[in-house]
Parts: sequence; structure tokens; C-alpha cells
Amino acid sequence: MKSKRHSCPVCDYPGLLEPPRSPSGGGSYEICPSCGFQFGVDDDDKGITYTAARATWIAKGSPWTSKGTPQPKDWTMKKVDQKAPKKKTVKKTVKKKKA
Ligand SMILES: [Zn+2]
Repeated sequence: MKSKRHSCPVCDYPGLLEPPRSPSGGGSYEICPSCGFQFGVDDDDKGITYTAARATWIAKGSPWTSKGTPQPKDWTMKKVDQKAPKKKTVKKTVKKKKA
């Protein structure tokens, strides 16, 4: 039986060795090599949501966090960044009055 890979709910990295959460709800304690999120610790113990962790990770520039696991060539951070909500640039429509 081949071991199935799982996607990280924080950064979408598809190479997690274990499901982040078991069917019973417990964390895997695996640390995502991409974003560094540890399931069962960062979420359960620290109360960090996936959304918050993702935002923090993207704010840091979506770094590859693992030193032991090399970053796969086909895993690009650009793909992640594109999914991040973009800030709307609001055009200012303030008219200058002539003095
Ligand atoms: Zn991750």
C-alpha cells in the first residue's frame, strides 16, 4: 500500500506525509515543510487558524521553512500568492477645487 500524500490546509503544499487531522480530530504533529505549520500544536495549542497562519506566512513572503526537506521544483510560491486576496486599489475621486 503506497502512502498517500496530503495537502496542507494552510499553504496547499501537496506533500504532507500524514493527513493534517485524523478522522477523530487529532492533529498529526507533522510540521509542514513549506509553511512550517504544525498540526495539533499551532492550531490546537496556540489557537492559530489556517487562514491566519496562511496570511502570516504569505506576509513573510511565503518562505520554504524546512531545512531538512528540500523545496520541490514543481512547488512554486507564485501559485500560492495568486490565491491570496489582493488589496483593492481604490481610486481617489477627490476633485481639486480651484482656488
Ligand atoms: Zn503548509
